[in-house]
Amino acid sequence: MHPFSLPFSPATEELRALVKERILILDGAMGTQIQSLGLSEEDYTGKGSGHVCRHHSDHPQKGNNDLLILTQPKALEEIHFAYAMAGADIVETNTFSSTTIAQADYGMEEAVHDLNAEGARVVRRALDRATAEDGRPRFVAGAIGPTNRTASLSPDVNDPGFRAVTFDDLRVAYGQQVRGLIAGGADLILIETIFDTLNAKAAIFACFEAFAEAGQRLPLMISGTITDASGRTLSGQTPTAFWHSVAHARPFTVGLNCALGASAMRPHLAELAGVAPVAICAYPNAGLPNAFGEYDEGPEDTARQVAEFAREGLVNVVGGCCGTTPDHIRAIAEAVAGFAPRRFA
Ligand SMILES: [Zn+2]
Repeated sequence: MHPFSLPFSPATEELRALVKERILILDGAMGTQIQSLGLSEEDYTGKGSGHVCRHHSDHPQKGNNDLLILTQPKALEEIHFAYAMAGADIVETNTFSSTTIAQADYGMEEAVHDLNAEGARVVRRALDRATAEDGRPRFVAGAIGPTNRTASLSPDVNDPGFRAVTFDDLRVAYGQQVRGLIAGGADLILIETIFDTLNAKAAIFACFEAFAEAGQRLPLMISGTITDASGRTLSGQTPTAFWHSVAHARPFTVGLNCALGASAMRPHLAELAGVAPVAICAYPNAGLPNAFGEYDEGPEDTARQVAEFAREGLVNVVGGCCGTTPDHIRAIAEAVAGFAPRRFA
């Protein structure tokens, strides 16, 4: 069946109605929150405290944040819950690197299905607890990262034709990821931090293959990353070119995240909002990193800049990327509450 003839999932109509009513809130960074737990190698593998991972690897696992889904699910659930209670309507799974391609660094390829399915279930549990407290509906976004390889550029300057990964490698790896996220109950799929549009196109293709198998379409959120001052993605696209490259997916939202703080993101976001007739989503970093790679921008500072997006009528969904915390998300939610969402076709 053609993907566009598939019925939409039940959450789709709910989200479409909500996004026209008010600016929706996405959650913030996982990395900063996980780092603050100060976990050891034994915590990552679950051998110290937590659940021992049934998947075996000879590689050290410290830093494999996605693995915490299986070994420290309670700790992750508390982070997701904190974001939900801070005002997030949409909360992301901790599955940014849960593909065989990204997990190869840790020898954890065989855990990919469980990471994604359990990753969605952990978020669902946290959101159900939050909804039991305040009655607000909340949605699980299955997060798909770019992987650590790029399909349209060569990593070897002496061999520009070389590719470390192909479209089909990515399609297969993303397909496994999306099937896991759907099995775990994700309400929508968020393809994020896109630096190479060809990688994202493989993810979109994999989503539609998985939707056809599942017999229903989930909403897609597509988020690119502008990595330099000239206003282009790493694979060289302007925001306008980026939109035209992904418009065929008929996404629920298109937007930008990461790389830049809110103020530096603004002109690129305005360009995207000028060409894309769909909901616009923005989740910048908490400013730019300092010399130690840490983010110093406080919640009020980030929120004031994100509120400018709302004042100008540029956005429908806002949240935070690197360096943001539940306090940033709470401040952002409060700062945009008085503004109407951007109107789109
Ligand atoms: Zn980021």
